[in-house]
Amino acid sequence: MRDVKIYRESDVPDMSILDGKIVAFIGYGNQGRSQALNLRDHGVNVIVGNISDSYRERANLDGFETFDIPEAIKRADVIFLLIPDEIQCDVYKTSIFPFLKSGSALVFAHGYNIAFNFIIPPKDIDLLIIAPRMIGIGVRECYLNGEGYFSFIGVGQNGTGKAQEILLALTKGVGGLTKGALETNFKEETVLDLFTEQGFGPASSSMLMKPMDILLEFGIPAEAILIEMILSGKMKYTFNGIRDFGVINGIKTMEDRSQYGILSRTIRYDKIFREISEIQKPILQYIEDGGFAEEWEKKLTKLKFKVIKFFASRVGFGRLETKVRKSLQMPEVDLWAETPYPTEEEIIRKQEIKQKLEDFQKYPEF
Ligand code: NDP
Repeated sequence: MRDVKIYRESDVPDMSILDGKIVAFIGYGNQGRSQALNLRDHGVNVIVGNISDSYRERANLDGFETFDIPEAIKRADVIFLLIPDEIQCDVYKTSIFPFLKSGSALVFAHGYNIAFNFIIPPKDIDLLIIAPRMIGIGVRECYLNGEGYFSFIGVGQNGTGKAQEILLALTKGVGGLTKGALETNFKEETVLDLFTEQGFGPASSSMLMKPMDILLEFGIPAEAILIEMILSGKMKYTFNGIRDFGVINGIKTMEDRSQYGILSRTIRYDKIFREISEIQKPILQYIEDGGFAEEWEKKLTKLKFKVIKFFASRVGFGRLETKVRKSLQMPEVDLWAETPYPTEEEIIRKQEIKQKLEDFQKYPEF
């Protein structure tokens, strides 16, 4: 295992390397908006590149100068490419590469397209990764409330000889040093991200769904099972406990009977988890080798994906969940609907609620 380097605010006393530079955010969505606002709050000259639509309108309302993407690239010294990964290659080819200045810096928030060589930038630019381990809204919220968020950062290419210095100044600017930025590289960040989805994701959701079959067979109504295991939101507190105290210490926050039940039964799963590891290892290897990226590019995969998605909510557990949500009069969820932007008032309100909850958790002094 390699030694890990973690950067914090104290490692970057100033951001003067960015003086006089123009930073263009290409994309003003989840990450783009939050990071652009955080960086501007640090006094950096930020512009936004986007086609003319609601995202650009939002950037204008937030007080940014906005341009079409090629024009923003021409003006910029630093470019944050914060559009969905699937379209980055096309946009890079048509609207970025032809206008890219020698000596500029190109920043990604996820390593995928660089790690698997879908985008190969010219040698005379800095290539940087600043990947927040946080959703877009959280990047702004955690910056505003001073909590910070973890990020993975690294230099993929040092075209100017100053890439590391620029990387750290930008990371500080987007609020990524408050909690800590861990040094990584494009490939490692990507492999870790994909494996968490493909290794941990299916295993953990199966572990959630399978016990429900047993309970159903046992005669307990589906509504009761889903409320207990998912809809009550108890799980959220369990995961928060794990985040705040760790897996083992998190268990200690429970009452003794629960602790004993969990710890004494965990051992029974040892054999099955060794088998699960044998499924997970080739998944990891396939990601690392680029096999998954190659698979995802195929037209046939897109068709397969459509079919899987179609059936996912119509058979088995998906169907049961839809039925239960209806019976509990819960709103139908449209996963493809756009998440509305939180307004500044909503962010402030959220902070007020958070403060009230913190006060609630404090014990009164007697
Ligand atoms: P979004 O889906 O929020 O990006 C939306 C932006 O992309 C909008 O400005 C939109 O503008 C623009 N866009 C969409 N289609 C096109 C197009 N065809 N041409 C030009 N611009 C387009 O992306 P995210 O912020 O979620 O992700 C950005 C990057 O951040 C990705 O690399 C992602 O992996 C990474 N990341 C995301 C995290 C997250 O929590 N979401 C966490 C960490 C990293 P318009 O539609 O007007 O063109």
